[in-house]
Amino acid sequence: MNYQKILEDIYEEIKPFAHDGKQADYIPALAEVDPDQFGIYLSLLDGKHFSLGACESKFSIQSISKVFSLAIALSILGKDLWQRIGKEPSGTAFNSLVQLEYENGKPRNPFINAGAIVLADVLLTHLENPEEFFINFVRTLAGNPAIDYSTEVATSEQGCCYLNASIAYLLKHHGNLENDVERVLHFYCLMCSVEMSCKDLAQAFKAFARSSEPFSHAGVNLTISRVKRINAIMQTCGFYDEAGEFSFLVGLPGKSGVGGGIVAVCPSKYAIAVWSPRLNGRGNSIMGMKALELFTTYTTESIF
Ligand code: GLN
Repeated sequence: MNYQKILEDIYEEIKPFAHDGKQADYIPALAEVDPDQFGIYLSLLDGKHFSLGACESKFSIQSISKVFSLAIALSILGKDLWQRIGKEPSGTAFNSLVQLEYENGKPRNPFINAGAIVLADVLLTHLENPEEFFINFVRTLAGNPAIDYSTEVATSEQGCCYLNASIAYLLKHHGNLENDVERVLHFYCLMCSVEMSCKDLAQAFKAFARSSEPFSHAGVNLTISRVKRINAIMQTCGFYDEAGEFSFLVGLPGKSGVGGGIVAVCPSKYAIAVWSPRLNGRGNSIMGMKALELFTTYTTESIF
């Protein structure tokens, strides 16, 4: 398969959409990002890789961080985690409060903000130095010690995260947060602020594509069973209220973030990451969704 040619053909085909949508601007620091950027990086499990565009530029991973915090929380709590967070698609926006209220403070899944705020709480309770542990986990997964938080983006988000604060207080009211609300929000925003490139993300997510050599770091073990479950949640909940559409168009487990990144895995074959900041109304990268749809169409390598 000529993957490089496929990536080039895809880029030509999606160019007409390059100016559709706009970057997230509800986080002031993200509004300053040049929206007209595109990068893609394909990492095959046999070690080969193919790329195009700004695939080594760092961007804010935002909600993609929820996959990393889920991996750690699941390793800490095992199946007890599911007493505090559900595993069903929400069908609502990532920052919606409505469902959380009528479901008495139990978030539908770990990949909406409410669920990830509970994950942040779990990490705070059980890790001695959660900030350091989290970033070291991501660095090891990606094999890049230079990956770091952006305190600028984290501070920018924390200064205006009124919806997330409302979610956190509702969780606290229902007894589903053990730590102080401000402390949890601070750590949640910090995890979202991590900056990685498409290359970093594709490399990191190979651990979710490869179950034969389980990844392990400082007691976090991505066992075959955990990888299966994390991929299942990515498949059903990785794109908020557009999870069905992504599944339909692309046919891979994946996760998006409002920084414009999307990462997806094809079990036993590859991990692929794409970045383009302009988003659709549901907070997912327009060019990113189209690129991945065409990729699985041209390669016929999806899970279905
Ligand atoms: N930090 C963002 C928020 O909490 C993450 C959302 C996202 O990427 N969908 O709103």
